[in-house]
Amino acid sequence: MPKKESPNNLGLTTTQSKWKNLTSSLTSDIIKKTAKEIDLNHTFPTNNFKEMGKAGLLGIPIRKDITSQASDLTSIIHVIEELAKACTSTAQSYLMHISALPMLDILATDQQRESLLTPIIEGHHLGSFAMSEPGTGSRWWHMESYCKKTTSGHIINASKSFVTNAGQCQYYIVPVKTSQSASPDDLNIFYIESSTKGINVKGRQNTMGLRGTSSLPVEFNQCRVSKIHQFGNTGEGFHFLMAYVLPIYQIGLSAVYLGVAESAYQEALHHSKTRIYSDTKKTLADSETIQRYITEMRLKIDQTRELVYKVSKMANHVTNILNEIAPLGILNQTLTGLYNDDFLIYVGEVKIASCEMVKFVTDTTMKICGGSAYRTGHTSERLLRDSFAGSLQGPNDDILKTLLGKKLLGLPFPWETQK
Ligand SMILES: Cc1cc2nc3c(=O)[nH]c(=O)nc-3n(C[C@H](O)[C@H](O)[C@H](O)COP(=O)(O)OP(=O)(O)OC[C@H]3O[C@@H](n4cnc5c(N)ncnc54)[C@H](O)[C@@H]3O)c2cc1C
Repeated sequence: MPKKESPNNLGLTTTQSKWKNLTSSLTSDIIKKTAKEIDLNHTFPTNNFKEMGKAGLLGIPIRKDITSQASDLTSIIHVIEELAKACTSTAQSYLMHISALPMLDILATDQQRESLLTPIIEGHHLGSFAMSEPGTGSRWWHMESYCKKTTSGHIINASKSFVTNAGQCQYYIVPVKTSQSASPDDLNIFYIESSTKGINVKGRQNTMGLRGTSSLPVEFNQCRVSKIHQFGNTGEGFHFLMAYVLPIYQIGLSAVYLGVAESAYQEALHHSKTRIYSDTKKTLADSETIQRYITEMRLKIDQTRELVYKVSKMANHVTNILNEIAPLGILNQTLTGLYNDDFLIYVGEVKIASCEMVKFVTDTTMKICGGSAYRTGHTSERLLRDSFAGSLQGPNDDILKTLLGKKLLGLPFPWETQK
């Protein structure tokens, strides 16, 4: 059983507070200072990741050995929220690095822990999670990429779209079908070093928002990997992705946009209090329209924050149960039971709630900050552009709403009936 920690006066455990405070110092000392420049110049935040690695942030979901305890999702959520308040590109890149780590931690053999996970814990390796494919878009249960078994390992042939951290990372986590003719959710998970022959990163980042990220298509052409690069057993990948990656990714994405919304709200407050009209000598804050806007923003942010923290605590609980089951060797069978649990509804809801909320908040900030906010380089316009990515990221909000609607109506998820 994981060791219990006493909560401090903010309701966080000592470990959760430690990571939150550490990230908050790092963002005010370093990360916040370069956010504008990173956006204007489309630069990947390499130095931020160097500092985050030194501070120990890159490996927090991984146990140093299997008898120790990793930091929980609530800690990670607070780290992501703090990062996003300062620089959305850094938070998004961190999210895609961290999302696969709880799964790698539970699946790793001793040899994999020592040679592949230790450099992540030590802060030297940044990773990416290459799931989405151009052919099937947001429908992640329908993979086309595949691998072929060899005597020494596998050969991977994969085409992946939007791989965040592409070209900047030391390794890619790549789910593919167990063979070319396998069913689209019969998956193996591979750790592919970025120096592997056959990897081709296409183009360079040129997007509306999140301009410091590197979310690019990557081709894996006849990439040869050895046995140590496969995590988990053949064909077991899909359920592990659903149980371990989906929650941290979706709740983490919600935390990104919670941080963006908080930042926009602070910008709106500041502008409202400092914009003074020469004729009346009154501030914008004296306007009742602005007062109403501020209340509406605060209300929506607080509602979402409650949901994000609540669902992150649920996820901690679910992960603890799964981790206890894992040594018994029946984890894969147990995971299918999750599809009928309300937990997945909450994990989907929180993503939709946060992505809808942030668009309202950044739009309202633009209204409050007025004409000056429309100029390139203004914080409000950067946050507005960044805020559009959330609802488009997989599972995009439209697809997610249909998936949740199916479950609420007692219908199966598409992958439960897929051959
Ligand atoms: C900034 C960014 C970073 C990303 N990083 C990563 C990453 O690191 N790793 C990764 O694996 N992926 C990543 N993605 C990819 C992402 O997860 C989605 O897979 C991708 O955005 C889907 O785009 P698409 O145009 O193919 O969407 P499509 O699936 O073609 O959908 C386009 C639109 O059609 C509608 N639609 C389509 N199908 C349905 C349906 N069944 N029900 C209802 N509506 C539907 C929706 O309105 C949707 O917005 C990233 C995406 C972005 C934007």
